Amino acid sequence: MRLRIEQFFRRLPLLPSRTRISTKITLLYAAILFVVLIFTSVVMGVGIYFSFYHQAEKEINISMHHVMRNIETGKAFSPGFWQSNPLLPGVVMRVTDITGEVVYDTDPRYPSLGMIESGRMKNWKPFWASDQMDVARVYNMAVYHATGDFTYEGQVYRLHFLRTITSETDYLATLQRMVLVTTIIGFIIALIAGYFLSNRILKPLRTMTQTVRKIEVENMDRRIEVPPSKDEMAELAETFNHMLDRLQAGFKQQQQFVSDASHELRTPVTVILGYSDLLSRWGRSDKEVLDEGIASICSEAENMQQLIEKLLFLARADQKRQVLHKEMLELSELIADVVKKMQIVAKDHTVTLGVNDAALIYADPVTIRQMLRIFLDNAVKYTPAGGTITIASKLCPDRKHILVTLADTGIGIAKEEQERIFERFYRVDTSRTKIGNGVGGTGLGLSIARWIAAQHDIAIRVESEPGQGTTFFLTIPLVDEND
Ligand code: ADP
Repeated sequence: MRLRIEQFFRRLPLLPSRTRISTKITLLYAAILFVVLIFTSVVMGVGIYFSFYHQAEKEINISMHHVMRNIETGKAFSPGFWQSNPLLPGVVMRVTDITGEVVYDTDPRYPSLGMIESGRMKNWKPFWASDQMDVARVYNMAVYHATGDFTYEGQVYRLHFLRTITSETDYLATLQRMVLVTTIIGFIIALIAGYFLSNRILKPLRTMTQTVRKIEVENMDRRIEVPPSKDEMAELAETFNHMLDRLQAGFKQQQQFVSDASHELRTPVTVILGYSDLLSRWGRSDKEVLDEGIASICSEAENMQQLIEKLLFLARADQKRQVLHKEMLELSELIADVVKKMQIVAKDHTVTLGVNDAALIYADPVTIRQMLRIFLDNAVKYTPAGGTITIASKLCPDRKHILVTLADTGIGIAKEEQERIFERFYRVDTSRTKIGNGVGGTGLGLSIARWIAAQHDIAIRVESEPGQGTTFFLTIPLVDEND
């Protein structure tokens, strides 16, 4: 329906494409009103027209039957009968003999029978006129004409009954004019009222357009005033404001991301520049400076490379370009492998694998491995040397999930920080927690882990006690064997 109205609007041939909605609505409704008025007027006119003709017909019939009956009984030939006025008002009677000569006439002022005969409409007759009647047009008036024969003293005579409907046609003509005038006045009133009303109704829309025009990227605080009514306009304004809220939040996040990323990249670049300067001054003569400089530049460049990799990962994830190749995967094998490699790297910590239940999951092996590595790297980073890291993977009682726990005996995370560690670039102030091995992270690891988990419907929960250690719980859905 909506589509059809739209097509109708578009097809309105006389309207330029920039015609305002208020004008279009006004024109459409005025046109509908006009058609309705014309239709009702036509129906009313035809009804009245028909009832008038029918009335005239009835009057002729009644008069004719009355006279004919009285001719049969002979009463009609007594002078008293005609004085009692046997015809209904408006009906005229004429009697002609066999030669067509008028021998009796109740109204000689009436058009002659010759004129009526010549005005007889042979091919056209109102569809409602009865078969026994003729209709003649004389001087712009319609005359109904019915005939009947009788015999008197051996002579055949013909009775003519006539009835004009001049007053009725006059009335109809007046009615037609009045209907036309009221239709035109109604149309004009509809146009004016429609124009003002639709203008009023659409005013909030224009105000919205003006406000929206003023909203710029640098000035995203502006909001549309929500009309007090609870109608579509208010809904539109609210929806638009919500959209602006979301856009603004996204935009701020983006700006924050760019500034955090630049900040993170500045430190290694400054260190590299510092060592390059040192090398250019004393590197050639002092072997110790040379070795230290090269080692530091290498390590900073490595940090930078890792940071850039993480940034690229998140950028791809944001743009939904990070591809995952999900497949059936035996999680226990993957965990065993990751733990084995971790045991080789983390020489200062005890890395142990507890229960490792067999579990078939549908996942992307590369990113799942990456996620587990992030948790284990953190566990090593934030656990002083000599600490223990324990991994376990146990089937849940519902047999639809597997619970992977990654626990360490490290520095722990304060309650108020636990919510925030998954945010991008968020790092707990390590100077206060006095981390022993002096590692500096980027604050991106857990946000990457969270994204990977979300892509696999994995729920993450953290439990931690500062100074005691941290445990991450991952609830991973298993492949439903019934599928
Ligand atoms: P980072 O690169 O700094 O490790 P993450 O996003 O991986 O970034 O972690 C965010 C912060 O969460 C870290 O800076 C750290 O303070 C805290 N955190 C993460 N894992 C642990 C853990 N196992 N023990 C203590 N703190 C942790």
